[in-house]
Amino acid sequence: MTHSIFSIDVEDWYHILDVPSAPALAAWDALPARVEDNFRRMLDILGETGARATCFFIGHVAKRFPALVREAKARGHEIASHSYEHRLVYTMTPAEFVEDARRSRTLLEDISGGPVLGFRASGFSVTEATPWFFEKLVEAGYTYDSSTFPASRGHGGLKSGELAPHGRDTAAGRLAEFPVTVTEVLGKRLCFFGGGYLRLFPYPLVKRMSRAVLAQGRPVIFYIHPREIDPDHPRLPMSASRRFKTYVNLDTTEGKIRRILADFPVTTFGDYLAEHRSAFGVS
Ligand SMILES: [Zn+2]
Repeated sequence: MTHSIFSIDVEDWYHILDVPSAPALAAWDALPARVEDNFRRMLDILGETGARATCFFIGHVAKRFPALVREAKARGHEIASHSYEHRLVYTMTPAEFVEDARRSRTLLEDISGGPVLGFRASGFSVTEATPWFFEKLVEAGYTYDSSTFPASRGHGGLKSGELAPHGRDTAAGRLAEFPVTVTEVLGKRLCFFGGGYLRLFPYPLVKRMSRAVLAQGRPVIFYIHPREIDPDHPRLPMSASRRFKTYVNLDTTEGKIRRILADFPVTTFGDYLAEHRSAFGVS
């Protein structure tokens, strides 16, 4: 079976986007952290089957908890970047974006002692309004990206984007792009494989849709957050619709992760890329 890709966005319970009650960066360090326990528990779950994942760290989290980066690396996982400040791409200037992406990469390379190839933007916030994103990411020193969401969603999305992983030319060089996995159901592009979508849908449907994607020769990109295996984490006040998306079915995530790992062989983005390098055309 084609390998799928398992990824974790390493952030805490208060890293919720576009909610007025979300604390500002200056307040983060004073908040009670749950990411340490939750992330380590997630590594334990992966360890039960020997599965390896790509861990996209928010730079600010890595700076506060560098031991988590070293532990993930020591346990065989790939270290990648989820930006430094977790800002939405479409709220940044190109120069601000490069600065933030580079700062996060450099920090993670310093802590882990190895190269950091991959990036994932907060909220998959790459849109038609940020055409500069891919070139700036190469400029910031990255080889691959997993930030595009080829369907409609709350924080933008690239509705008409390509579905399969592909290579992409930019003025700064070539980039390997891994769009978030979506599949067409009754003419609509839907995601079943991460975050709120994985929590919302029953596992048998997630499994059936994963099989359908693999049958098309695409890897399934699974993505989760450490807070999603912690049903008791503190809640931020927000609108009813956001509350539903953010907190629905938290108690089902851990079981779904175990079933995914039992049913599908997974690997890291880095290893997938190394195996399919010529298809992406990156050096
Ligand atoms: Zn995030």
